[in-house]
Amino acid sequence: MTDHVADLEPMPTDWRRCLAVVAHPDDLEYGAAGAIAAWTAAGHEVHYLLVTRGEAGIDGMPPEQAERVRELEQRSSAAVVGVDEVEFLGYQDGVIEESLDLRRDLARAIRRHQPELLLTLNHHDTWGPGAWNTPDHQAVGRAVLAAAGDAGNRWIFPELVEEGFAPWNGVRWIAVAGSPFPSHAVDVGLTLDKAIASLAEHRAYIEGLGDHDPVEYASDLLRRFAAGTADRFGGRPAVSFELYNR
Ligand SMILES: [Zn+2]
Repeated sequence: MTDHVADLEPMPTDWRRCLAVVAHPDDLEYGAAGAIAAWTAAGHEVHYLLVTRGEAGIDGMPPEQAERVRELEQRSSAAVVGVDEVEFLGYQDGVIEESLDLRRDLARAIRRHQPELLLTLNHHDTWGPGAWNTPDHQAVGRAVLAAAGDAGNRWIFPELVEEGFAPWNGVRWIAVAGSPFPSHAVDVGLTLDKAIASLAEHRAYIEGLGDHDPVEYASDLLRRFAAGTADRFGGRPAVSFELYNR
């Protein structure tokens, strides 16, 4: 006997621009990049905004070196899935708070890019039973959900209007990757190879995790994730999202 698990809906496709906002280099590559590759191949525009450069992510490398290495790895990994524009806000890795400064920075970026779709990483306390999420992911994901509204309201952060950023109330959805409560999915059958190549670009980071070959590591992990989601998406390898409507 198997537990009943609800099927995942296909993600909406009637949008032009997506802004993906995450805490660290590699956050988008642990799954979401397969969906991003499918979107860019279909003509959607996707931009990346990284809150930090992930400088605290490699135990054997000091932050001032790691931030340079990881920025380059993130830019390469974005290019593999058809994303040319990668921006960094430069917050300190590991100690991000869901602050008004962060919400203002995100609202500014949303007004500038005018996306219909926002994408972020799991903001919930856990990844699932027994797996605690990190504070940076929680803070950034929650700030992204808040900033979707902030971007549309001229009276929140009025200084942004003075800077020349008019309100953008066109965000229709916020998709959360890696959520323990997924509702939607994207078929990655044709883009899994690109997703694997994209994660493998985080070479210094993956090598820092232990004695891994980056391509083998990325392939094992992403094939397993995609197959795990297939059970709920008509047997197709897929990446899941929790979708919030606005
Ligand atoms: Zn992360």
